[in-house]
Amino acid sequence: MQLEQITSSQQAIDLEDKHGAHNYHPLPVVLSKGEGVHVWDVEGKKYYDFLSAYSAVNQGHCHPRIVNAMYEQASKLGLTSRAFHNDVLGPYEKYATEYFGFDKLLPMNTGAEAVETAIKIARKWAYEKKGVKETEAQIIVCENNFHGRTTTIISFSNDEGARKNFGPYTPGFLKIPYDDTEALEETLKNNKNIAALMLEPIQGEAGVYVPSEGYLSRAKALCEQHNVLFIADEVQTGIARTGKLLAVDHENVKPDILILGKAISGGVYPVSAVLANNEVMDVIQPGQHGSTFGGNPVACAVAMAALEVIKDENLAENAEKLGNLFRRKMNDYIRNSSIVNLVRGKGLLNAIVINDTEDSSTAWDICMALKENGLLAKPTHGNIIRFAPPLVMNEEELLDCVNIITTTLKDFEK
Ligand SMILES: *Cc1c(COP(=O)(O)O)cnc(C)c1O
Repeated sequence: MQLEQITSSQQAIDLEDKHGAHNYHPLPVVLSKGEGVHVWDVEGKKYYDFLSAYSAVNQGHCHPRIVNAMYEQASKLGLTSRAFHNDVLGPYEKYATEYFGFDKLLPMNTGAEAVETAIKIARKWAYEKKGVKETEAQIIVCENNFHGRTTTIISFSNDEGARKNFGPYTPGFLKIPYDDTEALEETLKNNKNIAALMLEPIQGEAGVYVPSEGYLSRAKALCEQHNVLFIADEVQTGIARTGKLLAVDHENVKPDILILGKAISGGVYPVSAVLANNEVMDVIQPGQHGSTFGGNPVACAVAMAALEVIKDENLAENAEKLGNLFRRKMNDYIRNSSIVNLVRGKGLLNAIVINDTEDSSTAWDICMALKENGLLAKPTHGNIIRFAPPLVMNEEELLDCVNIITTTLKDFEK
């Protein structure tokens, strides 16, 4: 059998359509190369990437330092499993725990696995440290959350598409409105079996919902008051995306459990991690949790390089500065716009809300037009378009992108 050579975008799309499961609805663009803030399609057309693989590629596409770390390590030792030690895991765990300020790290591969890990740790902590009766622990989550795709995680989603016909669902989760301190306080008061509150510091998939100022710090204080763990899912918001190393840093909140994924590898390899201090992490003992690939030498080498790049290239500061510029420029446009209602976000995690119904195709049509004009973005939840370029962008490029976006939007004004 011969391997198919791709010579056109349509050919690649047809192959996926015929031979791949239809679990995504991508924009019809076939990418074959990436460098920094740019990607190229099969025909050689160049685009600004304004999604960054859902904020996995914060360091830019194919960052030479990260790619080199992967190449060097992959050529030396790739996978040992955790049945044996390897000489990269320890140095990585030391580096990452000091970097984020926690005692310990548990390495996994994908965001969903790290979320699952955090749930398991929180439940075990509730039974062994808090004294909750076994099988009765509850975890508070927020409406419109996105934490991944496993059966347990979709059990507490309220996205019909993510949930419907995948039951029976995992029990043990209480859903409250996001950004609602009173609902949180009520739930904590009325239930003695709460192990944890788990939330996204900004709800990314839901449409970049930024909670009101003070929500995260008040939620953390309430958790402390009720001896409940505060779990921050920073898989999308973490690692410089929102203008600080972590989104919780905007409110000086220190989570009891921190979940990282996506950008911890700069997008070149699946790496995720759960961080916590000893009193929480030590509930996990040998044989109680694991992953064949978790903590493998390539993942560790890649993650160290990816984290170094964030600091050495001042990506948090750059995201803060360019994010402010982006929202200012977009607000200038929106003042006289009938098609865009608002722009919101922090750092370089932003979204615009299109003035049309949620089931309209306007946001999709705008993304198609943006693609024609050399910028790739994707609607999230109907009429919202997320804008999250790699953080290695410079001011001139950002202004160029603002120009592409506003010029494109003008064609849609009523
Ligand atoms: C993407 C994401 C996940 C899931 O990560 P995967 O690597 O796709 O499993 C979990 N939480 C949040 C907040 C995310 O954005």
